[in-house]
Amino acid sequence: MLSRITWPPFPTERVISKIGPVVKTGLTKRVCIQALNYPTVFDDILNLATEILSCVDVPISVSCQPLNREKMERLREAGIDRISIPLDAATEAIFDKVKGQLAGGPYVWEKQREALKEAVQILGRGFVSTHLIVGLGEEEREMIKMIQWCVDSGVYPGLFSFTSIPGTALENHPQPPISCYRRIQLAHYLITHGKTRCESMGFGEDGCIVDFGVSKELFQRVVRTGSPFVTSGCPNCNRPYYNERPGGPIYNYPRQPSPEEIAEIEKQIQM
Ligand code: SF4
Repeated sequence: MLSRITWPPFPTERVISKIGPVVKTGLTKRVCIQALNYPTVFDDILNLATEILSCVDVPISVSCQPLNREKMERLREAGIDRISIPLDAATEAIFDKVKGQLAGGPYVWEKQREALKEAVQILGRGFVSTHLIVGLGEEEREMIKMIQWCVDSGVYPGLFSFTSIPGTALENHPQPPISCYRRIQLAHYLITHGKTRCESMGFGEDGCIVDFGVSKELFQRVVRTGSPFVTSGCPNCNRPYYNERPGGPIYNYPRQPSPEEIAEIEKQIQM
């Protein structure tokens, strides 16, 4: 299980044989290979990407733990479009607690960030993604600082809302308040579109955003497009219901929100 989604196993040949036809319909625009961490994972990613690209020309994202330079170069040469290396947490302390040393995990904050920078050198600015999970205990200010670091480093951050998984250490941890998520989505949109920066924004004593550093007109215009609240990440990644139950609240809209939904979002932002 990943987030809310179970991933039943299917034979690899069967999956590959279906990718070409669905890409040709135009309904599927990207393939994402989400890799676990085990000794032969790189060979599996490389073989899978090569097989897919021999059947159909489709952008492929590879989401994996840090790989060395040579391996990332080999993936680029094989024709993958993007690499994503998940930071997940907004701060080093939270990273250590949820997937680093304190959690008994193999991951090191600085190595994760160095790998992202190295991936940018290999694939270019704008062709590297990361995942940031809102609601692991960070302040809004800390998340915005991390989004700014990503953008300045040439890394595009995709936003996720924390979603508890039964049987894990965080199974009783709540999802973030929707108002907090909306403010972070809006700040993410404004920063990734070069309309504001973390240093231009204002934060309250509790770390919540109180000023986006843009005019009221721009604020309203951007909110009313609904675009900041659509799923963010690699181009055409919509991850429907990955973070939310279909009954809502919808954290990431897999399509453009309707005018009624935008009116509701305006209330949720609480500004
Ligand atoms: S943003 Fe989407 S396509 Fe990109 S790595 Fe993450 S899940 Fe895959």
